[in-house]
Amino acid sequence: MDSDFPNKALTATRFSELNPPLSEPVLKALSESGFEFCTPVQAATIPLLCSFRDVAVDAATGSGKTLAFVVPLVEILRRSSSHSKPHQVLGIIISPTRELSSQIYHVAQPFISTLSNMTSVLLVGGVEVKADMKKIEEEGANILIGTPGRLYDIMDRMDVLDFKSLEILILDEADRLLDMGFQKQITSIICRLPKLRRTGIFSATQTEAVEELSKAGLRNPVRVEVRAEAKPSTDAVSSQQLASSKTPSGLHIEYIECEADKKPSQLIDILIKNRSKKIIIYFMTCACVDYWGVALTRLSVLKGFSLIPLHGKMKQTVREKALASFTSLSNGILLCTDVAARGLDIPGVDCVVQYDPPQDPNVFIHRVGRTARLGKEGHAIVFLLPKEESYVEFLRIRRVPLQERRCSDDGSDVVPQIREAAKKDRDVMEKGLRAFVSYVRAYKEHHCSYIFRWKELEIGKLAMGYGLLQLPSMPEVKHHSLSTEGFVPVEDINLEDIKYRDKYREKQRKKNLQAKKEAKEKQAKTQKPSKNPIAAATRKKTAKQRRAQQTVEDEDELMREYRLLKKLKKGTIDESEYAKLTGTEELL
Ligand code: ADP
Ligand code: MG
Repeated sequence: MDSDFPNKALTATRFSELNPPLSEPVLKALSESGFEFCTPVQAATIPLLCSFRDVAVDAATGSGKTLAFVVPLVEILRRSSSHSKPHQVLGIIISPTRELSSQIYHVAQPFISTLSNMTSVLLVGGVEVKADMKKIEEEGANILIGTPGRLYDIMDRMDVLDFKSLEILILDEADRLLDMGFQKQITSIICRLPKLRRTGIFSATQTEAVEELSKAGLRNPVRVEVRAEAKPSTDAVSSQQLASSKTPSGLHIEYIECEADKKPSQLIDILIKNRSKKIIIYFMTCACVDYWGVALTRLSVLKGFSLIPLHGKMKQTVREKALASFTSLSNGILLCTDVAARGLDIPGVDCVVQYDPPQDPNVFIHRVGRTARLGKEGHAIVFLLPKEESYVEFLRIRRVPLQERRCSDDGSDVVPQIREAAKKDRDVMEKGLRAFVSYVRAYKEHHCSYIFRWKELEIGKLAMGYGLLQLPSMPEVKHHSLSTEGFVPVEDINLEDIKYRDKYREKQRKKNLQAKKEAKEKQAKTQKPSKNPIAAATRKKTAKQRRAQQTVEDEDELMREYRLLKKLKKGTIDESEYAKLTGTEELL
């Protein structure tokens, strides 16, 4: 346990004093894990679920919600454990990401193992579904813990599973599970479950909407809301505000307002000043994580720093390794997307940097909640462009108080160094371009589009901030005359000449270029001297017709995709590049 005991995040209520009382084996498992006193959310929730009430729980990040559902789930199932059959599913816990499901599975094991005769399975994507099916077939499954996609897949494929006796369903990070992205899968799962059961939904950003609750199938739920306590007012923010803060009381959140071209230098300054700290940096898209994960390692000032990228488009084994190594580090940097925003309980995170604010403002609370867990202190910094400043007021109204952090004058401009790295390695150059394009596209999808005004994005400064060598010609820029001010192209270079540092890749590229050249020459020889005027006219006409059908808003999107498609046909880009450049499911 912590040395700062009694921990201010705990109540004076012991687990052994709860009513209805917990079973001996669970109490033993709790004390063996070092848990003696309940957190407020545990003291409030465990007795309710154990006495057959449905709950909708809204409590800050790091307040101990996992045990608040794992303990009652195990207690409820203890009553049926003696007569359960191997393929009778009695409990289900659903969470939005593979990493979180795996974490819950591991937290639950010591408690589940107190039940005789019960098996639990972890069901997440990224591994062969057949392997999961075989395991369930052979070993049985009484408790399912997993992500919606894989869970539903298994329910759909395996008739052998019997859900008629299901006792309890838990949705962790429920607001995320019930939003658009997962709604269909969750509804399909819930439809197959008996109505007479306990249901618990948990989050740090529960929506107040009643329909959300009914979507989850809650019956007269008790709403449990636990807020961070007031901390003594030491600054301009009144204690009144902090008393009901949506974020933990030990968390100090700052915003740094700086132009897009200054962001990398400010980030490096923060990283250097926090060299011995454990830091998470959130970016907007997978491509951004891929890029900065490479670009930052090429900077001499960051030599010796552990930089670990993590996003949802990585192979599952790589994802697992990344999280495991960051977890084990005492200091280091995780570069990630929102795949690591919710629920993850990584020990000892000192600081959370949001290089890009999230599209969904609720995610802000989850990201910063990776630090200052269970009564500890923590620090978070969010980067805002000057035009995004009203986000501060927006968050304050949502009970997330932020303080200003001034831009630092220390350190030099790192953009030239990043550009140097791009010149030396085509991989850096291409990843930068991809990241930039993905960022602009993702920016369009900000939920608070009146704060994050896409049409006011200053593309020039942004491209400088990505260390791009030349400004890519994007339809966005042309059609909406986004400002290109502040961009200074690198003149003395032809992008075609930039080589991959990786010798094999470079050889491959040279080969492809040569093949393309030859094909072109061949085509030029066989092509008729004059173009067919009729075909050209038809092409023009269909293009016109297509344009007429489009709304002004999505026209540029389609134009871009059309151009990329042409490139794909010509062979200037390959299919995976095409998918990357047009992909919209980039965020996790
Ligand atoms: P939440 O889901 O609310 O974000 P978690 O359930 O992940 O929070 O718990 C946060 C941390 O607090 C975990 O490291 C967990 O082990 C620890 N914890 C939870 N309950 C207790 C308790 N009663 N006593 C001590 N530590 C606890
Ligand atoms: Mg949690």
